[in-house]
Amino acid sequence: MSVFGEDGFSTRQVHVGADAIDASPRALPIHLTAGFRFGDFDGAANHFGTGDGFGYTRTGNPTIEAVERKLASLESGVQAQLVASGQAAVAITLLGLLSAGDHLVVSNHIYEGTRGFLLDSLSRFGITTDFVGDIDDPDAWRRAIRPTTRVLFTESIANARNDLVDIAAIAAIADEHGIPLVVDNTLATPYLLRPLEHGAAIVVHSASKFLAGQGSVLGGVIIDDGRFDAERSGALFPHLVARTRTGGPSFAEQHGGLARIAYIRESVAPRFGPTISPLNAFFIGQGVETLSLRVRQQSANALEVARWLEARPEVASVDYIGLPSHRDHALAERYLPRGNGSVFQFTLRGGLEAARAFVESVRVFTHMTHLGDVRSLVLHPGTTSHAFRTDDEKDLQGVQPGTLRVSIGIEDLDDLLQDLDSALRATAAAAIGGSPIDGQAEGLTDTVPA
Ligand SMILES: *Cc1c(COP(=O)(O)O)cnc(C)c1O
Repeated sequence: MSVFGEDGFSTRQVHVGADAIDASPRALPIHLTAGFRFGDFDGAANHFGTGDGFGYTRTGNPTIEAVERKLASLESGVQAQLVASGQAAVAITLLGLLSAGDHLVVSNHIYEGTRGFLLDSLSRFGITTDFVGDIDDPDAWRRAIRPTTRVLFTESIANARNDLVDIAAIAAIADEHGIPLVVDNTLATPYLLRPLEHGAAIVVHSASKFLAGQGSVLGGVIIDDGRFDAERSGALFPHLVARTRTGGPSFAEQHGGLARIAYIRESVAPRFGPTISPLNAFFIGQGVETLSLRVRQQSANALEVARWLEARPEVASVDYIGLPSHRDHALAERYLPRGNGSVFQFTLRGGLEAARAFVESVRVFTHMTHLGDVRSLVLHPGTTSHAFRTDDEKDLQGVQPGTLRVSIGIEDLDDLLQDLDSALRATAAAAIGGSPIDGQAEGLTDTVPA
């Protein structure tokens, strides 16, 4: 049947059956392949010359591209780049915008991995960062901007104190300076909030979290609004307006408003190389098909859990923007009409020992470092994600010895509350048996039932 019929065993074992069978699957086909066969001699030359079609998965893959289109659409963006992790999305975005000597202004309340990348990695390339403490104050952002500032960076909902930033106000400041506001929208998801609609220029995500949704794969995505203005901002981003190394037209000349994302797609992502597996891209695409359903249920559960925790005597405070007690609640009502997300922290009066007892007695909640999963998760930041922060830094994030971070899943609410109830009872028992720590003695007496 095939041209290989007459060939030897080894030739047939690699070639027979390798021709794609033409079919029309309803689900997204997984093009799990390093590269693509060229149609003919000119097709190969054309691909390398213009980038048309597919040649090698590091520079493009139909499965990956299908998911990129879906995510660009859901974030109200124009073009997206999927990468291997959320950390890669942050790194590739900033490497696509910044050069040695540049400066960026960043919200203080950001993911630890991003913070480390800025302070330990970008700093080695002469790129410096200033952090804004009072992120609600537009003037604090304005004051931090220098002549070398090229990016403002923030998270939409901060992990896990739930600080919110007025995206439109900060985007307006970025715009005054002709620089992009980049928003890590991992905790909000595009179902709850679309920063590009409020003036941000680029959105990044850890797709490992809510987008994939089931904790099975890592991925990240960069989504651009397609509105790079070479006339206004070209001088600030010379790599986007300069002729190419070989004298060809600049990215701005070739791609207009898409120059920024084109540079990321063609020059930064494939060269630094954190390519996502097409299989992982498939899982993310599959996850996103149920994003609205999951996030709606997770937000509804989280609000009920947060209200319930706030009413418990063992709990000193709950940092959830859905609660009127949160300082950014009014902002949340404006920016998050569909729900307030499902990742937040709360602090036990019983301190470290209570936290230990809590994480060791949950049954429905899973004790792990992840978020945005269909399953409810709990973590003790003080001894894990924030263990190497100074006490001042922990204070700033509201991370105390008794603080726990939760990511609320889609389980039945009654089962979650029952699990939390028995875990809180275990903390009371630990407080009776344990000794006061870290000045929490006052709290401990509160915890012990009379
Ligand atoms: C998890 C996370 C990241 C990093 O994503 P990975 O997929 O783990 O690399 C970045 N930002 C935020 C807000 C996150 O929660």
